[in-house]
Amino acid sequence: MSLTSNKASASNDGFSTLTRCYLGLGSNLSNEIGTPSQHIEQAIDRLAAHADIRHVRASSLYASQPMGPQDQPDFVNAVVELDTVLTPDALLDLCQCLEQQAMRVRLRHWGERSLDVDVLLYGATLIDTPRLTVPHAGILERNFVLIPLAELNPELCLFEQRIIDIPMSHDWTGLVRLS
Ligand code: AMP
Repeated sequence: MSLTSNKASASNDGFSTLTRCYLGLGSNLSNEIGTPSQHIEQAIDRLAAHADIRHVRASSLYASQPMGPQDQPDFVNAVVELDTVLTPDALLDLCQCLEQQAMRVRLRHWGERSLDVDVLLYGATLIDTPRLTVPHAGILERNFVLIPLAELNPELCLFEQRIIDIPMSHDWTGLVRLS
């Protein structure tokens, strides 16, 4: 099992070990901080301003039907491409920090949330620890992940398949592009 090598280019500003990563963002709950779209946009802004991150590029926003309980609002989703010197665990820490900044509370499993941020890909690295599974589990079955990923990088390969050859990356069931 392998992924396309995805090391970002070296630079002379202290970012010589940049790794190209992809994060998946989702929100379907408004709160005093903002609406779902605002939660995602604020998280993207924070990633772009982070000292250990370079080259932040976001997909369009998409509306998707919830995977879990159906008595909850549709989600707003996006994928972000970035280069970072952060380790996988530090990147997960940052994802969880972004969730806390959106005042995420856990109401129920796969339920509504102000912000969910997942590490989808960390370069070509395969990770399987108690805390982190990368590529993210279920990535191949989720059109709200694959379609924005393919929008950002149609050349990407996942598990020795080009993303554009994965059927779910063309399946728009329950998905609408918002912007
Ligand atoms: P969630 O309910 O989706 O926010 O899941 C959070 C949990 O999933 C955390 O305890 C993480 O340690 C774990 N996890 C495992 N792999 C990943 C990943 N690739 N990205 C984000 N969280 C992950």
